[in-house]
Amino acid sequence: MIPNTYRRVVLARRPPGEPKEDDFRVEQQAVPEPAGQEVLVRAIYLSLDPYMRGRMRDVASYAPPVAIGEVMPGGIVGEVVKSGLPGFKPGDIVEERLGWQEYAISNGAQLRKIDPGLAPISTANGILGMTGLTAYYGLFEIAQPKAGETVVVSAASGAVGQVVGQLAKISGCRVVGIAGGAKKCAFVTDELGFDACVDYKASSDIDPALKAACPNGVDVYFDNVGGAITDAVLRNLNFFARVALCGSISQYNAAASESGPRLLGPFVGRRIRMQGFIVSDYLPRSAAAFRQMGEWVRSGRLKYREDIVDGLENAPRAFIGMLRGENFGKMQVRVGADPWLKP
Ligand code: NDP
Repeated sequence: MIPNTYRRVVLARRPPGEPKEDDFRVEQQAVPEPAGQEVLVRAIYLSLDPYMRGRMRDVASYAPPVAIGEVMPGGIVGEVVKSGLPGFKPGDIVEERLGWQEYAISNGAQLRKIDPGLAPISTANGILGMTGLTAYYGLFEIAQPKAGETVVVSAASGAVGQVVGQLAKISGCRVVGIAGGAKKCAFVTDELGFDACVDYKASSDIDPALKAACPNGVDVYFDNVGGAITDAVLRNLNFFARVALCGSISQYNAAASESGPRLLGPFVGRRIRMQGFIVSDYLPRSAAAFRQMGEWVRSGRLKYREDIVDGLENAPRAFIGMLRGENFGKMQVRVGADPWLKP
């Protein structure tokens, strides 16, 4: 039964530093009626991602900021409950960036149909969704690892990092993660099969641990965090190393940006390439990545860990926690009942 009203979370004000729960506001709205060739989607899983912090700033980047009072942006995996759109019928599981809300209308332009038989549907927000795609193309297109090379990935237990490391292992590389805390490090080595993991919270200087984990230096660095961790990895890069700049979460809550890096001298002599990328550039090629990773997920070759909290009202707290590193795996909110969830 479709209710008369639903809840959504809007941006109430722009935080100067770390967001607080009252920077967000939960609102009640009338459930809209799809018009013409549209669908009404009941949200099941909301993806929480670090990029959302950037959208809360009044600064133009590769995407416009969220306006005050506007629904927070975010990927949704949900169920079609009404449809006037050819090819979509009630009961279909779909994914689209429809925002932090329990119901939403889609015109179908960005709507992706999900096969619930392939894997738990929440994976369409994670390993078989935007973060998996980021790992896949960021690693294979930007970093281009070769068998036998050493690949280092930061935020290694997180949504992107855990996939990057496993893909690099499949490519025949030595893989070293960097993560916060013994539990996360044990997960990436013992469960995901990374060769080593540096716990950056164990010491203020990670250089000795990094050197011990990378006796042949670093050929590829997949950077998710920026800041001092990245400075330490850059000091250990080999000739012809590649650095894929994916994100710099250690800086997202900073009121002012840090200076740096100042370590670029060796980049010249060592012919090092450093390149940023944005996953949306690879959306036209997403089907190939999802096909390959879907096979690996189904066969158990690729593992994944998700961190799911219940209830849309808990999204702000979970988001703030993720920016602090309190998540353990792909952060999501179960916004509504998942009919495909196996007990
Ligand atoms: P994660 O699931 O990795 O969650 C964020 C993690 O970041 C935390 O678990 C925490 O892990 C780590 N972290 C938080 N604060 C710090 C800090 N101060 N220093 C070091 N690590 C910190 O998130 P995602 O996998 O979704 O995102 C990872 C990165 O990828 C982000 O930078 C994000 O912006 C970027 N990204 C970029 C995309 C692109 O198109 N370029 C697309 C998607 C994501 P720990 O406890 O180990 O510190």
